[in-house]
Amino acid sequence: ADLGRLAAAVLAQVRDVVVEHEAELGDLDAIAGDGDHGIGMRRGVDAAAAAGEQNAAAGTSVERVLTAAGEAWSERAGGTSGALWGTAVMAAGLALGNRDSYAAGDASAAVSAFSNAITELGKAEPGDKTMVDALLPFRDAFKDAFDGGASLTGALTTAAAAANEAARRTADLRPLKGRARPLAEKSLGHPDPGAVSFGLIAERVATYLA
Ligand code: ADP
Ligand code: MG
Ligand code: MG
Repeated sequence: ADLGRLAAAVLAQVRDVVVEHEAELGDLDAIAGDGDHGIGMRRGVDAAAAAGEQNAAAGTSVERVLTAAGEAWSERAGGTSGALWGTAVMAAGLALGNRDSYAAGDASAAVSAFSNAITELGKAEPGDKTMVDALLPFRDAFKDAFDGGASLTGALTTAAAAANEAARRTADLRPLKGRARPLAEKSLGHPDPGAVSFGLIAERVATYLA
């Protein structure tokens, strides 16, 4: 239940950072997409944080907090990113499960489950100009740092920096997946909204847990 409360507190941080950047994410999605990335992320994360808080207050496991939050996120966000984030948060919850005690390696399993859920559902490849272009560098940097002996928060900080750097580099790519594809040329020179929001969220979570 302690880990459930921590998960709910992290979800509240995710909500706050999305709210802070809602307009900017919408503007970025309007360049070549349909402009709803800010509002969609906000709707999803509002619902996810509320579901997380409700479950944590009832003393449920981290598994239940995250699966309820992920379900709420998918349901309420609408849009591609909402389905992907919701499914990934649920997958992280299922990976953590409901055990008596947790080890550091469980965090690594949760990161892998989160990442696999997004690539399995969305089927985007690296270079397609999606959130996957920030997610995979995050996952790889986390693994390298963690397996190399870094602390959980140290590995998260390194991984979040890698995600943000990679999100910035998506400006050089043409979108090959999602709604931005038909207006690919317009998107050149601007980073992918889903990659940018992923980087912002990763950084907030790392800062909060550090
Ligand atoms: P929608 O495109 O349905 O309006 P959003 O605007 O909320 O949804 O999200 C757009 C973001 O979703 C894109 O910037 C991209 O990062 C991400 N995205 C789109 N398609 C995929 C996919 N197949 N796999 C991973 N991410 C994707
Ligand atoms: Mg959109
Ligand atoms: Mg849309």
